[in-house]
Amino acid sequence: MASDFLPYGRQSLGDDEIAAVAEVLRGDWLTTGPSVTRFEADLAEHLGGTPAVAVTSGTAALHVAYAAAGVGAGDEVVTSPLTFVATAATAALHGAKVVFADVEQDTGNLDPEAARAAAGPNTRVVAAVDYAGHPADLDALRTVAESADALLLEDAAHSIGGALNGRPVGSIADVTTFSFFATKNLTTAEGGAVASPSPDLLANAAAFRNHGLVREKAAQRYPDEGDWHQEVHAFGLNYRLPDVLCALGIAQLRKLAAFKSRRAEIHQRYDKAFAGLDQVRTPVTRAGADPMWHLYPLRARDGRRKALFEHLRSKGIGVQVNYIPAYWHPVFEDLGYRRGLCPNAERYYEEELSLPLFPGLTDSDVDRVIDAVREFLGA
Ligand SMILES: *Cc1c(COP(=O)(O)O)cnc(C)c1O
Repeated sequence: MASDFLPYGRQSLGDDEIAAVAEVLRGDWLTTGPSVTRFEADLAEHLGGTPAVAVTSGTAALHVAYAAAGVGAGDEVVTSPLTFVATAATAALHGAKVVFADVEQDTGNLDPEAARAAAGPNTRVVAAVDYAGHPADLDALRTVAESADALLLEDAAHSIGGALNGRPVGSIADVTTFSFFATKNLTTAEGGAVASPSPDLLANAAAFRNHGLVREKAAQRYPDEGDWHQEVHAFGLNYRLPDVLCALGIAQLRKLAAFKSRRAEIHQRYDKAFAGLDQVRTPVTRAGADPMWHLYPLRARDGRRKALFEHLRSKGIGVQVNYIPAYWHPVFEDLGYRRGLCPNAERYYEEELSLPLFPGLTDSDVDRVIDAVREFLGA
């Protein structure tokens, strides 16, 4: 894809994925079958042994995770505004009040001190986001969650394959959610997962994903009804990821380490090119963090982000902006949230654009992006 449009993210699929999907299509199981079980087991291996359930999207994963945590009316969820709106929207859909706390200026991740100030007696979940693939300060956030008697959720839509202080993402928080959307670090087209070391939380998640159906006789209220009998004890939805997509996920997981190293190489190439340019700010890596770089967030100083965005788009470079502060969406504005609430997140948003970053980029693609940025800056 050397000369035409470069998207900011793109899936990397090969013959392995095509063969895996074709095999499922020729078999007996299209929806819930052996590939789901296998994908969940393979996923757990990448999460330091933490069990996981596959769901239909990252948004479904968040909706399921909040349900599993018992989030409902009267509860508060403390989270970052520098995220895709789904992190907050899914909590609001459960009837919770979303309390936005500001982000760290360098990483763009939820600031533990801001989260502490935002937490209160009604806080049920503290939801961190691993922005761009850099793990949030989960140890400090765990302390915040524990002192509020709340659960720690990690929205790891950007960070599967990352680690913090030697522990893989997925094994750290009480509950971790993933997205396998096409532009993410690995894809099942649409898909996601919820991981938790807590058997109770995982069981709640598995139930909510499948209508809340109870099939085990020992757990049923009316076990003698007949062998066909299943019953619902709590409402749920159908968020089951089908076998055919889990087969795609199994093949993608085998490449996760290779994806991670290529993403890191590209990230480093950008870092080197922009080091020492004082018109832009490049992403940081904190001590102990081993990011899985999903995004390369470049920050343009002096209010030039929009002009840089337009310059790059005019050159066929598909930059993106991640993210408008969640509470700027009119749906939150109409609930009374006002601009100015989280100044760091707002400044971050106003400066940020995401450069193309995906394993299939060649070095010359990357250099084309670098040249276009430097040309704009006159550097
Ligand atoms: C992509 C994303 C989601 C939602 O995932 P989908 O699979 O697109 O539903 C949630 N949170 C963050 C931070 C994301 O980037």
